[in-house]
Amino acid sequence: MSAYKTFHERSIKDPQSFWAEQAQLIEWFKPFDQVLEYSKPPFAKWYVGGKTNLCHNAVDRHLKTQADARALVAVSTETDQEKVYTFKELHTEVNRMAAILKDQGVAKGDRVLIYMPMIAEACFAMLACARIGAIHSVVFGGFASHSLASRIDDAKPKMVISAEAGARGGKAVPYKPLLDEAIQLATHKPDHVLIVDRRLVEFTKVVGRDLDYATERAKHMDAQVPCEHMDATDPSYILYTSGTTGKPKGVQRDTGGYAVALAASMKYIYGGQAGETMFTTSDIGWVVGHSYIIYGPLINGMATIMYEGTPLRPDAGIWWKLVQDYKVSVMFSAPTAARVLKKQDPAFLTKYDLSSLRSIFLAGEPLDEPTATWLHGAVNKPIVDNYWQTETGWPMLALQRGVEVMPHKFGSPGVPVYGYNMKLLDDATGAELGADQKGVVAIEGPLPPGCMQTVWGDDERFVKTYWQAVPGKMVYSTFDWGIKDKDGYFFILGRTDDVINVAGHRLGTREIEESISSHPNIAEVAVVGVEDKLKGQVAVGFAIPKDANKTETLEAEVMKTVDSQLGAVARPARVYIVNALPKTRSGKIVRRSLQAIAEGRDPGDLSTMEDQTVLAQIKTIMGK
Ligand code: AMP
Repeated sequence: MSAYKTFHERSIKDPQSFWAEQAQLIEWFKPFDQVLEYSKPPFAKWYVGGKTNLCHNAVDRHLKTQADARALVAVSTETDQEKVYTFKELHTEVNRMAAILKDQGVAKGDRVLIYMPMIAEACFAMLACARIGAIHSVVFGGFASHSLASRIDDAKPKMVISAEAGARGGKAVPYKPLLDEAIQLATHKPDHVLIVDRRLVEFTKVVGRDLDYATERAKHMDAQVPCEHMDATDPSYILYTSGTTGKPKGVQRDTGGYAVALAASMKYIYGGQAGETMFTTSDIGWVVGHSYIIYGPLINGMATIMYEGTPLRPDAGIWWKLVQDYKVSVMFSAPTAARVLKKQDPAFLTKYDLSSLRSIFLAGEPLDEPTATWLHGAVNKPIVDNYWQTETGWPMLALQRGVEVMPHKFGSPGVPVYGYNMKLLDDATGAELGADQKGVVAIEGPLPPGCMQTVWGDDERFVKTYWQAVPGKMVYSTFDWGIKDKDGYFFILGRTDDVINVAGHRLGTREIEESISSHPNIAEVAVVGVEDKLKGQVAVGFAIPKDANKTETLEAEVMKTVDSQLGAVARPARVYIVNALPKTRSGKIVRRSLQAIAEGRDPGDLSTMEDQTVLAQIKTIMGK
């Protein structure tokens, strides 16, 4: 049997010994008594009885061996700043931040919401929470007040850490007014809001609630805050993600299992070494940012680059310049970013020395062949696709070069990763499918270490949503369609639910529909994901107005509504104002027919449709 097959089989057949071995990759304050406790499926408990801390493994642990090595490189091409923190300096800053949190009464188990741009203080904030055992919930800076308010009400943070503004494309993007509005909208009120004042915009302070980071930091210059000894099963963070309903789900992650899973993934998948530098171009607001900007590389003793800015400013060579300047060995990005760079002058790629780079990993959305071929040709390094989701926290499908170098196949993120008992199942019967048959990508429990423990505060939702989606079997559904070839390589064919993927960002169409519906002149709306050459998919809405005489500026108004409630990230590319929506006789909107028309495809069998003329009308409105 191949090295990969032996490794994978062992991880499934003997998870106890397999994961006990991987657990040696991190440091424990107290060894675990039991590797896996799975008496109440689907709730898996990893490393029961063990005590550890994410911040200890990401920072303190490295003080013994490489205190003066680079740990964090914070680069902003928006504010022209570039600052390097060694592990020792990172340790000092995290201690200061932890002391601020403690001073304000934040304790183990309390939630702290982090709504920040890609600045070093965001990294300090996450690690400081981990240090004292507070549960962080990072909300992507592109989300606006309604999205933020629903997360505040669900996570009930004792404290919020933010900045007055982010910056994008040379312009300041105010955060503080959106945060103030969100807190006003929310029922739950945080005790304090800690603001990093970057001096980008003026803002108003709420007396008694808002604290200034620089002032607070100055009070704790010599702070020494010990790492809390966390149970391996204690939650480390909540990260909200979109699903079928409008209400985002809080993906809850543990401590010990996550640390081990990330350490193992660095060894077997990403192949980084302590002392090297990793550059992940995502944002801390997404799971890739949590796992591979902050925790993964740091736990592995690598330096990480946090980058604020676009890939095109000051020019399209900026990322490659960073690779050269910091001798990046592992790079991680998304296909959309590669497509953006592909449109630029190829000279930018030959201008810099990329000899330190070993591979580029791409994830978050399907990797199309032209993009993969272009990038491979341009940098002459392996381009490694990997497939996973917020819920899993680390790859489910990838070529695992640290286990065995296997051939790459275009369009496939590879084979199941150790620990994941991946299945392709018939969506109607739950039967396992063979090669070349399309089915739902599922995982037989237990989920390996590092995956979601539950939905924050809602075990029932965890079971119902993920484990009862495939009939007849209690398996974890990824909500992705897939197909597997005879060699066991998987191909991902898109979502089975109403989630769309815009530039690698996962968005729920129902959330966008709810926001559009809140406009006073909208009676009904459907939002679908439509194929897009650059972003993979974009959201497109079809809305029926209440008053058909007042539609002149309606599309623009609706866009504004979405912008201000959910954020620019969720803004549809178009919202067509229509007279009717295609519906079945029982009144269900046939979204797939709208998607087909928008993509210029044949909408297929329409026999169940109530009014066959509706689609023709919509086609005319769209100019198709
Ligand atoms: P998120 O939770 O935001 O990371 O989004 C996860 C979803 O993105 C998955 O369920 C897939 O639909 C999609 N996805 C992530 N990585 C890949 C990939 N390498 N190829 C195809 N689709 C992917």
